[in-house]
Amino acid sequence: MVARHDRTTDPRLLAALLQARRGTAFFARKLNELTDAELDGDSLLPGWTRRHIAAHIGYNARAIARLVEWAATGVETPMYPSTEARDHEIDFGATLSPIALRHLFDHSAVHLNVEWRDLPEDAWHHKVKTAQGRIVPAGETVWMRTREVWVHAVDLDNGATFADIPAPVLARLLTDITGAWKTRGTDTGLLVKVTDQDPAMTFGDTSAENPTIISGPLAGVTQWATGRGTAGVTARQTTSDTDLTEVPAAPKWI
Ligand code: ZN
Repeated sequence: MVARHDRTTDPRLLAALLQARRGTAFFARKLNELTDAELDGDSLLPGWTRRHIAAHIGYNARAIARLVEWAATGVETPMYPSTEARDHEIDFGATLSPIALRHLFDHSAVHLNVEWRDLPEDAWHHKVKTAQGRIVPAGETVWMRTREVWVHAVDLDNGATFADIPAPVLARLLTDITGAWKTRGTDTGLLVKVTDQDPAMTFGDTSAENPTIISGPLAGVTQWATGRGTAGVTARQTTSDTDLTEVPAAPKWI
């Protein structure tokens, strides 16, 4: 039996699902604005055309749906058999006809949404494993998808910017990224300050003596942190009162 509404009643989960659905709708809009010929154009990701982005987002929905099915049935179904298989699948998907590529995106998004909708309340806590090998509750799949659809909508390079991404999504993304730097110890001497949020947000190496301070609005700083440019972002040493002429590149994230 397919329910017409979410089976979970957890308000936090429902809010998260809304963010994922809005992101999917936003990605769909940016994809649908592109003509078939424009799909051949470059994306913002090195080596990837817009076709690669569309294929990746489609296969990503299928992969995440496998995790939701895993949570529902208890039968282990990984996102991808291997990293090579994932990459190969994207390369293949990028060669599909425009109509097939658009169907891949549409159908996979609908399928994932149905899997989420029908997942019983208690199964949201069941543990699954991400492609990076992290063990997470099924509820985490919502954020995994949210991040992908919003950021890759920008990567389609047809007008979407980080300023289009809702602030709570940006804030969580920045928290994830700076958390990954901390885990790897790659944030030494780097302090990240968000200037347009109340209360103020500070990330990175908060105990550094003379850190390089990266500052800017949440959208700009998050864009910088994902390695997608320095627009609206400034950098300076604590001891200096002038900005550095060049904003240093953010540490690697993925
Ligand atoms: Zn991705």
